[in-house]
Amino acid sequence: MTEKPYRPQEDIVTLMRQFEQEVKAAPELPDAATRLLRARLVFEEALEFVKGCGCALQLTKNAAAGSNVMDDVVVVPDARVEPDFVEYVDACIDQLVVTYGALNAAGVKAQPAWDEVQRSNMSKAWPHCSECDVVLEKNEAGDLAHPQNGGEHGTAWKAVLKLHKREDGKVIKSPTYSPADLRRVIEEQARPANG
Ligand SMILES: [Zn+2]
Repeated sequence: MTEKPYRPQEDIVTLMRQFEQEVKAAPELPDAATRLLRARLVFEEALEFVKGCGCALQLTKNAAAGSNVMDDVVVVPDARVEPDFVEYVDACIDQLVVTYGALNAAGVKAQPAWDEVQRSNMSKAWPHCSECDVVLEKNEAGDLAHPQNGGEHGTAWKAVLKLHKREDGKVIKSPTYSPADLRRVIEEQARPANG
């Protein structure tokens, strides 16, 4: 048996067409009814995952009548909810299903957006010199450069990524960090293909 390639977004296109849901050909925010449906689907699957983890939702003390509950709800461990491995995995996959569904309903291809987010997240790590550990800088061309042109080891160095953390464990973004530019990715997909 040959192994079927993993093509989750294409699979969900097939599924949505089968169930007569609109798959957009180009990026566009879906209409209000579709947005409500998609928001509910994503939220339900997120809640299933919370349960599979043995957790529950709780309102914070700030939650007052008429407040925006969204800002006052937190996930907490709950001894009454039995964690369940199969439910955990099931909810992960169902979240992929509804997330690819939401992208298809908006006409957005996941991979270029994914690559941009991955690039941005990885850029939070600090590039260091493999030889002397000095933090590398970006030169005017946007490439990583060694301060003092490599010092005693000339060009015989590589960039090694390292995390810098605060005392509380929060990651400090490197000076070479740049946020994900999803607007650009979406606009590129909106243009006709042969450009
Ligand atoms: Zn060095």
